[in-house]
Amino acid sequence: MTTEQLDLFDERDYDAEAAAKGAWRDRMVPADWVAPYDCGYGPAGTVVSGWRCPACGKVEPNGYILLINHGIDPHIPGDEGFLTECISMDLRAVRATVEARA
Ligand SMILES: [Zn+2]
Repeated sequence: MTTEQLDLFDERDYDAEAAAKGAWRDRMVPADWVAPYDCGYGPAGTVVSGWRCPACGKVEPNGYILLINHGIDPHIPGDEGFLTECISMDLRAVRATVEARA
């Protein structure tokens, strides 16, 4: 069952949706991730083709980890706000605020 309302007259703007997906795809930059220690990818120094977060610039080893840590899936367009301020940046700001109070 889908939660999407069916459009009997098919008035969706497919061109706008395609343009949005294209813009999202353009912001996703593959980048080499280097293992900082021995891990599931191999010994320390192993290079894996990963993704760079367009907001904070951190490189993650795959799209799934980019989604978990930054809120951005490189393959599925989502919230445009995460392109300039990701979840990781929010968490770091909260941590800095908490540490400043301590
Ligand atoms: Zn990020």
